[in-house]
Amino acid sequence: MSHRSIAIDGPSGAGKSTLAKDLAHEFSFLYVDTGAIYRTVGLAVFRAGIDPKNAAAVGAILPQLSITMGYEADGLQHMYLNGEDVTEEIRLHEISGYASGVSAIPAVRAFLLEMQRKLAREHDVIMDGRDIGTVVLPDAQLKIYLTADSGDRAMRRYRELLARGQSADYETVLRDVIQRDKQDMEREVAPLRQAEDAVLVDTTGVDLEGSRELLRRAIRERFDL
Ligand code: C5P
Repeated sequence: MSHRSIAIDGPSGAGKSTLAKDLAHEFSFLYVDTGAIYRTVGLAVFRAGIDPKNAAAVGAILPQLSITMGYEADGLQHMYLNGEDVTEEIRLHEISGYASGVSAIPAVRAFLLEMQRKLAREHDVIMDGRDIGTVVLPDAQLKIYLTADSGDRAMRRYRELLARGQSADYETVLRDVIQRDKQDMEREVAPLRQAEDAVLVDTTGVDLEGSRELLRRAIRERFDL
């Protein structure tokens, strides 16, 4: 039996992961956070002391990496790097830039592609990322491009970092958000863009509950749930 897939793409801080996680729970889909997978490669590269833009050096360590994921009793997607649980560590602010850097390298994307497709073959998934509707799951039954203006997204990210007890400064977070958007949209391989058949959801000025309702409606309509 083929499984249902929902692809949610968009820039960082649009609320993809929070919303996708909640809705996956509500509709009994498996939530797959693909950013976490790129972050795990980013962490490995950071630990190895390699420049994340050095494609040759990054490509050379890929064969030594075992990247796996699991769903623990807490319902969270845990990431493992060579068997070590790195779920928390990949969220550190400096790892975001590493993840974005390595994600522009074609060998890294190819390395992770099959892992993502396999999950969608085996489960009903809500998968969030940057290229899910355009590259990873071009046949997804529902594609959503979730966005908001950069100031709103930076504010959400800033509050999230503070809530996690990390020190943060709004101006720096805003600069990083803009820089990461640029890097993700302008890269040659699998750039962030809205798939032609994706539904555009703009959450500028819309709170979390309002955004959840917009997505819930799109899912109900598409799957008759
Ligand atoms: O979503 P998150 O911010 O955790 O993703 C970290 C980085 O991983 C992004 O900035 C992006 O460069 C990269 N990424 C990607 N393709 C995906 C998911 C994430 O290139 N499908």
